[in-house]
Amino acid sequence: MTSEPGSSDWHARAKALRFATGHFIDGEHVEALAKARFTVVNPATLEPLCEVAAGTSADVDRAVASGRRAFASGIWRRKAPRERLEILSRYAQLIERHAGRFGLLDTLCMGKPIGDMMAIDVPQAVQTFTYFAELCDKIEGAVTATATDALHYILREPLGVVGCIVPWNYPLLMAAWKVAPALAAGNSVVLKPAEQSPLSALLMAELFVEAGGPPGVFNVVNGLGEAVGAPLALHADVNKIAFTGSTEVGKRMLIYAGQSNLKRVSLECGGKSPQIFLADLGDMDRAVHYAINGIFGNMGEVCNAGSRLLIDKPIAEAFIARFIELGRNAYRPGDPLDPCTNLGPLVTASHRARVVSYIERGRKEGARVEFGGDRPDLPGSYLNPTLFSKVTNQMTIAREEIFGPVAAAIEVDGLEEALQVANDSPYGLAASVWTRDLRSAHLAVRDLEAGVIWVNCFDHGDMTQPFGGYKQSGQGRDKCLESLLSYTQTKSAWVHLG
Ligand code: NAD
Repeated sequence: MTSEPGSSDWHARAKALRFATGHFIDGEHVEALAKARFTVVNPATLEPLCEVAAGTSADVDRAVASGRRAFASGIWRRKAPRERLEILSRYAQLIERHAGRFGLLDTLCMGKPIGDMMAIDVPQAVQTFTYFAELCDKIEGAVTATATDALHYILREPLGVVGCIVPWNYPLLMAAWKVAPALAAGNSVVLKPAEQSPLSALLMAELFVEAGGPPGVFNVVNGLGEAVGAPLALHADVNKIAFTGSTEVGKRMLIYAGQSNLKRVSLECGGKSPQIFLADLGDMDRAVHYAINGIFGNMGEVCNAGSRLLIDKPIAEAFIARFIELGRNAYRPGDPLDPCTNLGPLVTASHRARVVSYIERGRKEGARVEFGGDRPDLPGSYLNPTLFSKVTNQMTIAREEIFGPVAAAIEVDGLEEALQVANDSPYGLAASVWTRDLRSAHLAVRDLEAGVIWVNCFDHGDMTQPFGGYKQSGQGRDKCLESLLSYTQTKSAWVHLG
């Protein structure tokens, strides 16, 4: 019988781990043309982890040219769809086989607990590739109803070279959400990982080739946003940018597209998701558990984190008291390589400083810290989970995305006011409503301005669920069939028969 690896096993594996640190272009690990490097720091220790190739526009040109050559040759897009399906299925299995390596790479770079990597990120990345692999031979065109002197049909074709720019909070999984549908549709890809978490992308690209993917179809360029992301998004030979990250940088993607070749842009950006708890919610403990996990999971570094708790006045006092009781110690900062840890450090010391500045702002603007707000006595960039009560929706902590384990409890007077407060936000990624009343639930679904609504749960879903934002949370959808189609374009063929 083999037992699950413990903390010392993960530390030993981390010590023995070998990984690439360059770019991956044309099926090979390569150095940056300018030979420059930047340092990646392990946030759990604040010690340097490795030096990684710092790309420039010259590296981007090289990767895009490689992707373009592969696309023009037809080696991937013209493969029989079943063959693409088989390669991508093999690829999903390879990712699963290398789960431990992926787990370690993301944990070491961005501090996510290894238990979360093994239970959430890696299995969901495998599901993502499996789901889109299975769609390879289900991309269909159409024949339209024309007069008898013509045959008109619509073909669905890949776009060309897709640039994928992703953040650090789920490095493997966010990359998978972009790369899998792009490849399944027959495109070439140039992936630019976040500079905080550049390593798992290189292993992803390497395994694609090992699975039988043609060299040049999947390339990775590492480096900083301005140095690599911008030239990729400005590139005249890139047909689409699939971006996940902040709203601020997302807006720049639209500018880059306008300044270059009108490439397509899909944006998955930030959020400030409300969770509405109505007085008739029923099982309060269950709702409180979801509220706690919805904001403290993944250190609160989640785009759809349920950061605004909108609590109906009749239950507000009891709800907050229960949140304090259950939430104060639910997430304990610890070594992310210990599988029992559920709260790692924040991604960098500077990100922690940013989150702390929001906590100070909350205090100054009159909100009350019920627990947390301070740092544990650990060497990394840790922060204790924090609950604010007495928050109004006008306060900075209720309006801006903090991207840390900070919950803001706002009292509301019934469904109507809850919906008004929920929608009073520039964001619209996700929202939830807790109620036993069918009418209230459906009214909330109808009136909440968000791309994803949960009723009596939070953060549930699977690959069939479109994921994406209303308003400044973005445009476009990840995961679902709609996402696959967004990596294709239609061609209309009119055949004269007269
Ligand atoms: P970010 O916007 O700072 O960076 C995202 C990516 O863009 C990185 O790869 C970065 O290097 C690159 N980049 C930065 N500046 C650039 C520029 N000028 N030109 C081109 N590329 C540039 O975001 P982050 O801090 O890495 O991630 C956190 C953000 O991501 C949060 O706002 C979060 O809500 C969002 N996010 C959204 C989703 C979603 O599905 N909606 C999922 C995860 C994260």
